[in-house]
Amino acid sequence: MKSVSPKLFAFDLDGTLTQHKTPLSKENRAVLQKLSKKAQLCMVGAGMCRRIFDQMGHFPINIIGNYGMQTAVYNSTVKDIEITANMKVPVERDSVEHRVTELRKRYGYTEFKGDNVEYHSSGCITFPLLGTKADQKDKLVFDPDRKKRRAFLSEVKKLFPEYTVFVGGSSSFDMAPKPYNKYYALSRYCAERGILHSEVVFVGDDYGEGGNDESVYLSDFGFLKIDNYLDFPEIMKKYTEE
Ligand SMILES: [Mg+2]
Repeated sequence: MKSVSPKLFAFDLDGTLTQHKTPLSKENRAVLQKLSKKAQLCMVGAGMCRRIFDQMGHFPINIIGNYGMQTAVYNSTVKDIEITANMKVPVERDSVEHRVTELRKRYGYTEFKGDNVEYHSSGCITFPLLGTKADQKDKLVFDPDRKKRRAFLSEVKKLFPEYTVFVGGSSSFDMAPKPYNKYYALSRYCAERGILHSEVVFVGDDYGEGGNDESVYLSDFGFLKIDNYLDFPEIMKKYTEE
């Protein structure tokens, strides 16, 4: 029996289509090109739409950024994206600082370089365990298997109930104000276009506990796991060769 062919392919960027913050390769770009002949495509990212569009070498695609707080559609006439929504949620900084300091004391991260917390213009926040000015080499060796952060992820979630908390980057927790997360964002995108969740295939690498693709992975959307962006052409073969 032939399965229903997807109406929409949705993608994470870093770790899925590209290496972290590096340009889209011509191989993976060619796969996207082929898929665009079969179905609609969109990006569902944690970063800003413009950053995603630039990293993709201006590949023509609609983009959901900042976990759904920002959206952009591709305009083929001007060959550029147009921002269609740009939410900014206010942050109670005193309260955030207080709670982060409490977590630092409780789990032994009271020594750090730079600031306690990083604030993004959207209202998303980052709790960098080693501080905002930590050395790159210290960050990379800090928690590669994420065990240190997963050990108290549930406590961070408890102290920040108004945020979705992610184990982000190499040594931090990222937080997006509720209800924003990739599941929420993709659900809205589909509802606006009359696409059923069963007609979507999402491709993502960060599906583990606390990962920014986890909300989609645990949902009713179709999900293809990817553990190395170099495998993308192979993983999509069944769709590109049909
Ligand atoms: Mg990723």
